Amino acid sequence: MKKDFTILYPAHENIYVNVTNRCPFNCTFCLRQSMDSVYGNEKSLWLTKEPSVEEVIDAFKQRDISSYKEIVFCGFGEPTERLYDIFEICDYLKQNYDKPIRINTNGMANLIWNKDTTKDFKNRIDIVSVSLNHPDKNKYQKLVRSKFGIKTHEAMLEFVKEVKKYVSKVVLTTVDTTLSKEEEKLCQKICDELQVEYRIRPYEE
Ligand code: SF4
Repeated sequence: MKKDFTILYPAHENIYVNVTNRCPFNCTFCLRQSMDSVYGNEKSLWLTKEPSVEEVIDAFKQRDISSYKEIVFCGFGEPTERLYDIFEICDYLKQNYDKPIRINTNGMANLIWNKDTTKDFKNRIDIVSVSLNHPDKNKYQKLVRSKFGIKTHEAMLEFVKEVKKYVSKVVLTTVDTTLSKEEEKLCQKICDELQVEYRIRPYEE
C-alpha cells in the first residue's frame, strides 16, 4: 500500500478529483481489487480520510490547472456518495476556472440520496459519464453486485433520462473486450433511445 493518498491526480490531459472510497457497488472488474492507484500516479487513491470541501478547494489552489482540459470527479469510489459536497466544490470551480466539469458515475445518485438529485447538476456539472456496463439487467447486476439489487439497471437508465435535461452532455460507456458485438449493438440501441452518446472505453479509463 502506498503511504500518502491523493486528492487531485492528472490523467488523459485532465485533472481528476478523488473524494471518496465509498460505493454501493462491488463490481467484479473494479480496479480497486488489485491496485492502489491508476495511470502511474505515485500516491494511493485509498483515502485515510475523506477530504473536506475546503481541503479539495485548497488542493486546487495549490496546483496550476491551466494546462488541463477537463476537471473530472472520478477516483477509487462512487463520487455521487458525496454529491452535495461535489456541488459545493463545483460552485467554487465555476467561479474560479473556465474548465468543463465531468463526473464519472455509476448513475446511482438518486438511489443513494433517495430523491431526484438531477436538477442540482445544472450549472455545476457539464458532462455526466455513466457506466452502462451491460444491456441486460440481470447480467448487469451479476457484474456490478449493487446493494440496491435488481432495480439498479432501470434506476441507472432513469437517472440518465432525467440528468440529460440539466447538463450539456451525457455519455454511456462500456468497456472494450467485455461485451460481444451483439451486446454492444443493444447498448447502442439503449443510447439511441435515450438520445445520449455511447462510448466503448479502454479498461483502465
Ligand atoms: S462502481 Fe466503480 S468504484 Fe464502485 S465497485 Fe464498481 S468499478 Fe469500483
